[in-house]
Amino acid sequence: MHRVHLTSFGIFVAALLWAVSFAVSPAQSQPARVTLFEGARLITGDGGVIADSAFIVAGNQIREVGRKGEVALPPGAARVDLTGKTVMPALVDAHVHMGYRKRLDFSQNNYTRENLTDILDRFAYYGVAAILEAGTSRSDLAYEMRANPPPGALFRTAGRGFGMPNAGPGGPMRDSAYGVTTEEQARQYVDELAAKKADLVKIWVDDRGGTVEKLKPNLYRAIIDEAHKHAMKVFAHITNLADAKDLLHAGLDGFAHMVRDRDIDDEMLALVKQRPNTFFQQTLWGERLSLYSSKPAWVDEPILRETFSPEEIRLLGESFAKAESPSARAQGATNLRNIAKLRAAGAKFVLGTDTGGVTGGQYFGLGSHIELELLVSRGGLTPMEAILAGTRNAAEVLGLNQLGAIAPGKSADFIVLNANPLDNIANTRRIDRVFQRGVEVPRAALTAKWQAAFRSQGASR
Ligand SMILES: [Zn+2]
Repeated sequence: MHRVHLTSFGIFVAALLWAVSFAVSPAQSQPARVTLFEGARLITGDGGVIADSAFIVAGNQIREVGRKGEVALPPGAARVDLTGKTVMPALVDAHVHMGYRKRLDFSQNNYTRENLTDILDRFAYYGVAAILEAGTSRSDLAYEMRANPPPGALFRTAGRGFGMPNAGPGGPMRDSAYGVTTEEQARQYVDELAAKKADLVKIWVDDRGGTVEKLKPNLYRAIIDEAHKHAMKVFAHITNLADAKDLLHAGLDGFAHMVRDRDIDDEMLALVKQRPNTFFQQTLWGERLSLYSSKPAWVDEPILRETFSPEEIRLLGESFAKAESPSARAQGATNLRNIAKLRAAGAKFVLGTDTGGVTGGQYFGLGSHIELELLVSRGGLTPMEAILAGTRNAAEVLGLNQLGAIAPGKSADFIVLNANPLDNIANTRRIDRVFQRGVEVPRAALTAKWQAAFRSQGASR
């Protein structure tokens, strides 16, 4: 494989190849392109590292993985030297809100195929191979785009989630959830999701500081029971320890946020130990304002300028200057203590950021990486544990068996990094290249497209 130079022609060809790779069916395509990638430190996604690795990609799959010198160059294969680089599996972000955010706008009008496709491209740019829309679908577009994937991250969806009427998600997403008042209704809607083969079921169990009615226990019991009949997992937006414990008693599969009202107690830890497959998302990205007291250095990193407008970066930087209330800060601190407690209990962490939601903002892709950093710097996870949360564990929860690891038979979805994230988790953002289903993501072409859009916006002001 020749290194693609960043001429406009090269960018055009790369973008064309990328688009064509999705348009051509296997039966029509040439024999699979085979490439040997040699010399990288390889983070395999199962907890292991191969210091001086070699791996073969054939078409869209990983064929062989081993040490440099022990994996032979197949006849006719290309060779790519990755000496000095680190390779890790592409990420999976299992808590995202798609299609409401479009640059600085946050509204229902943005739930269009064009905007959803752009968001998937943004995730791909950052090396995110798949996302889960966490219960805020507005139409069947998510299912259609899952069935016929455009380039970009794979779109997985929990369809419409559940709350009491008009009491589910926040902001313009509010009416996307099913509002339920009876168990029969709840079961009927779960059946509807099952018929559409939703990837997970989302429920909101939160009174939003006493402003709305919380989903009633008999209703979430009916939802969980009906979902389990269809072999579907249910995950819950929560804030309170009491709700978390009752949901565990009710058989819940995972949490979309951490307990933030008080410290997790021994009763909850015992429940978690009994049910080691229960998964936990931390959404530290979504709650970042309660965790920082001034603008973090990463706001000035080049990767932001490659993907966001100067205005978006300015607003992000300024957001950290606004003082959060003492109660919000206390919740942030409780959140972090609870991560440490759950980690000590051996709980399963899964990457989820809330990007695209009320607090997540439109920083698609960036949030997934800052989440990993916060899990390490504030949550006390090791870099390897954070990477496993964002690769193996998240892929497993979504049933994406082809993702989450670099091993024979897996999809060739990986990130080539210029520095080692096991030394410093912030290095997951030092991206050299991203491969998706065996094809390099045309990052230069995507940046060029976004930059042109920023310029035309600026000119029209
Ligand atoms: Zn959310």
